[in-house]
Amino acid sequence: MNAIKNYINGEFINSKNDGEIDNINPATNEKIATIPRSSSQDIQDAVDACNLSKSSWSKLTITERAEWLDKIADELEKRFEDISKLESIDTGKPISLSRNVDATRSVSNFRFFADLARNMETKQFEMSDAINKIVNKPVGIAGLITPWNLPLYLLSWKVAPALVMGNCVIAKPSELTPMTANLLAEVIHQVGLPKGVFNLIQGYGNECGQALVSHPEINLISFTGGTTTGKIVAKTAAPMFKKISLELGGKNATIILDDADLNLHIDNIVRSSFLNQGQVCLCGSRILVHESIYFSFLEMFTKSVSSMKIGNPLNEDTKLGSLISNEHLEKVDSYVKLAIEEGGDVHYGGQRSNLNDDFAKGAFYEPTIIVNLDYKSRTATEEIFGPVVTIHKFNDIEEAIKIANYTNYGLAASIWTQDTTLGEHVAEKLDTGMVWINCWLHRDLRVPFGGVKDSGLGREGGLYSLQFFSELQNICTMNDKY
Ligand code: NAD
Repeated sequence: MNAIKNYINGEFINSKNDGEIDNINPATNEKIATIPRSSSQDIQDAVDACNLSKSSWSKLTITERAEWLDKIADELEKRFEDISKLESIDTGKPISLSRNVDATRSVSNFRFFADLARNMETKQFEMSDAINKIVNKPVGIAGLITPWNLPLYLLSWKVAPALVMGNCVIAKPSELTPMTANLLAEVIHQVGLPKGVFNLIQGYGNECGQALVSHPEINLISFTGGTTTGKIVAKTAAPMFKKISLELGGKNATIILDDADLNLHIDNIVRSSFLNQGQVCLCGSRILVHESIYFSFLEMFTKSVSSMKIGNPLNEDTKLGSLISNEHLEKVDSYVKLAIEEGGDVHYGGQRSNLNDDFAKGAFYEPTIIVNLDYKSRTATEEIFGPVVTIHKFNDIEEAIKIANYTNYGLAASIWTQDTTLGEHVAEKLDTGMVWINCWLHRDLRVPFGGVKDSGLGREGGLYSLQFFSELQNICTMNDKY
């Protein structure tokens, strides 16, 4: 049994609190590790470690810090297969997905931010009699809180820019998925990053997570997780005027116009609905289809969904693994029952997927398609975060836009059409932070990532991340001759 520890001031240590939390493989429902149930005392120790190291870390040049990121990326890459396997066991996701998305992006996040920071230009604004120079200073101590769906992918997305901009870091991964954050700490230890610069605290969100957000010496919080938690984080951090970024939930529309090339795109539309068992904040869970192609779309979509293999996440040909936990499965199932109460019909799936042997107690759920549901219903507007989509008809573009915007969330959307000019016109009318046309999750790491409305606050990605993880100072110098 793997007893995972915290990583504070360059050492793997137990929590000051004696408690521990079981870590479960959701595909087998078996205990695979324990993590410390950390408390505010452990957060205090991590803050003390940051305070000891932050002055020397912030004095390095950005190029020197970028070199550290490259070293971390190189070492992570050597452990590519470990990352893939641990992520699959910890989350229940298919190993092919862990390799192609989680492990790949975790390495490239470090390389990307190293290169970006190295090439960052100092901004200057000249006046007739003076020059303004914008300096990016470190913010101080960065608290980074992440969810369970893309554990190392999302943690590395925050750790890399935070470190390269000269901050010290206290990371708090989800208590459901501690494995690859621990691997990152091992890698950071191995490459010899100065102690105290990166610290990792494991435990419950409402205990050590809350202590992290409440600590007055932590200057910045980058949070990715649910909207309800995001509200608590915002409420706690706001009176201390911490810098805060909130990447929250979504209920994203997939809009299929009447001229969409379904033969070309159907598999990608299915992927956008069910990747990671629908547990990606960007997944399209409300599919809006022009009425003229509704039935042909439904037939093609259902055929493609039914061909997805559910099974052992470590098998190479598995397309759908388990959900994150049986508890989460109950929540997903309760939404399917609610959909029926709300007048919808289960067109495909709609129940636990019963596997045999080692996986009999796993959290497997059939990919589920619900039709004939009012677009204003709770099922069609609240985040389910599982393998469930609702499909709705629309009769013109204005109606599609109205339905798409009829939710409190505003993270992302996708539009499928051969008329890309029309697609862009529709995109601009959507209240979301991101829109894909004829593609989905096609990521350029330079672009702003984030949502509007209940999907969050602020943007991360590329220079937006480097700006968020630094304080901008303007130095205005009068020319000598004046
Ligand atoms: P969650 O909000 O339950 O937990 C997220 C993290 O916050 C965990 O580490 C948790 O321990 C911690 N936490 C919980 N309570 C806390 C508190 N009071 N103070 C500080 N930290 C606390 O979310 P989850 O169930 O882990 O993740 C799923 C959610 O994340 C979904 O809503 C999904 O849409 C969202 N998500 C959003 C994005 C995005 O980029 N917008 C990306 C991935 C996931």
